[in-house]
Amino acid sequence: MPLRTIVRLGHPALRTPALPVPPERIGDPELQALIDDMIETMHESHGVGLAAPQVGEEAQVFVYQAAGPPEIPLHVVVNPMITPQARELAYDWEGCLSIPDLRGLVPRHPKVRVQGLDREGRPLDYVVSGFEARIVQHEFDHLNGIVFLDRMRDLRSLAFFDEWEAYLVGGSQPDLDETAVG
Ligand SMILES: [Zn+2]
Repeated sequence: MPLRTIVRLGHPALRTPALPVPPERIGDPELQALIDDMIETMHESHGVGLAAPQVGEEAQVFVYQAAGPPEIPLHVVVNPMITPQARELAYDWEGCLSIPDLRGLVPRHPKVRVQGLDREGRPLDYVVSGFEARIVQHEFDHLNGIVFLDRMRDLRSLAFFDEWEAYLVGGSQPDLDETAVG
């Protein structure tokens, strides 16, 4: 399967709200091919998530998976709705395949409810927390034209990867593999 090109910040697709997929079209070969391509592109790019606007498609679809720890199995979510399950916010590092090489501290809800459809059009309704909740919120934002920079409360934590690794990731911070990059 061909890899899709990941568009970078400045491409209008990243600032355009994606459109819901008509449920009867989820089984269409074009949409199924898009999902397969997104999964492969995410793996090849060593990301833990990817949203359709990042490959220039305006469909409300995102995929995510993490080798861990914590291991998160592959998820495909179509037409998602996200509902925070707690009022508080937790800060952790994020990066984005569409904003290469940068990391920043981003506040996210530690627990969210995910509703939507899977790639067969079956209803999804589940609650995620921690790292998975962070990934889901990052990818959901992409479907609304929002990137992690928009969510940062203080741009002073913004760093290039090498400098972040050298100066900012201490023993108390998550392993590099656990940093949400989608
Ligand atoms: Zn991203």
